[in-house]
Amino acid sequence: MKNDDHIVIDENSDLNNIICEECKKEDESVKQNLIMHGFKFCNSCKLSKTIFPI
Ligand SMILES: [Zn+2]
Repeated sequence: MKNDDHIVIDENSDLNNIICEECKKEDESVKQNLIMHGFKFCNSCKLSKTIFPI
């Protein structure tokens, strides 16, 4: 029978998905911003992008 192996795999795949493309830090907000806005930025990078758009 399986133990909690699938939980470990889920956490690993999540970790790959929450790395900010701007500062390369892992942050829960990266995943939220990816879902909501379609870009992989953490909240602090999103904030600087919003205040100082390119
Ligand atoms: Zn960032």
